[in-house]
Amino acid sequence: MVLLVQNTPFGDDPDNSAALANQVRALNARFAHHSATSVMRQALASKGRFALVSSFGAESVVLLHMAALIDKATPVLFIDTELLFTETLVYQNEVSERLGLSNLHIIRAPDISTHDPDETLHKTAPDACCALRKTTPLQTALQGYDGWITGRKRFQSGTRAALEFFEIEPKSNRIKVNPLAHWAAKDVVAYMEENRLPRHPLVAQGYPSIGCMPCTTPVQPGEDPRAGRWRQDDKDECGIHFVNGKMIPGKVEA
Ligand code: SF4
Repeated sequence: MVLLVQNTPFGDDPDNSAALANQVRALNARFAHHSATSVMRQALASKGRFALVSSFGAESVVLLHMAALIDKATPVLFIDTELLFTETLVYQNEVSERLGLSNLHIIRAPDISTHDPDETLHKTAPDACCALRKTTPLQTALQGYDGWITGRKRFQSGTRAALEFFEIEPKSNRIKVNPLAHWAAKDVVAYMEENRLPRHPLVAQGYPSIGCMPCTTPVQPGEDPRAGRWRQDDKDECGIHFVNGKMIPGKVEA
């Protein structure tokens, strides 16, 4: 079974939407006991129709490494919000070069100077800031793709506890693929150690989840790994992702 038959406008057509839902159900049933690599191979079998969206954060190198082993020309989309840690930008360069990724796209919003000229939107309206710097640029970049691959995992937070390998992004009807959905934190560490992959330098400083600099703080022992994200706000996703098929109210994602 090849993931998605492309050029099909699933959007507003109820028949196509139902077909897509059936396809995703079948994929989840078929791959229920398969490995992350197997799921990744399935997504990349559609040759360029699926992009890997990566933050080059704390655990991103795992999926980037898997993709590079399968096809170094896998489209990789990296959203540079222009408020990232310098360490993330340096790490992105190092990892891309080391893995030989040859189809990296750095995505930046074109209108930040108009809508957030003094870079304070994250304080006054974080959802609008995420929409401006992350969600809208990503959705624009994803046009032309059938779906995208994410590094989300069930253990990361309560909102991701029921995550499946394959899901439908409601508004676009694209397929989202989560090869690491069932991995535990120890699996991530083991993979990085076995493959001698470089760690994001901020992990050693107490950041198990890394986003934009103004909205990311270190995490204390025993806290949820994503507790350091938007610590001052009632917000735990940037709106790029949806939870159980629904967008988290007032949120945009990372
Ligand atoms: S994580 Fe913070 S700084 Fe980054 S886009 Fe969202 S609100 Fe803005």
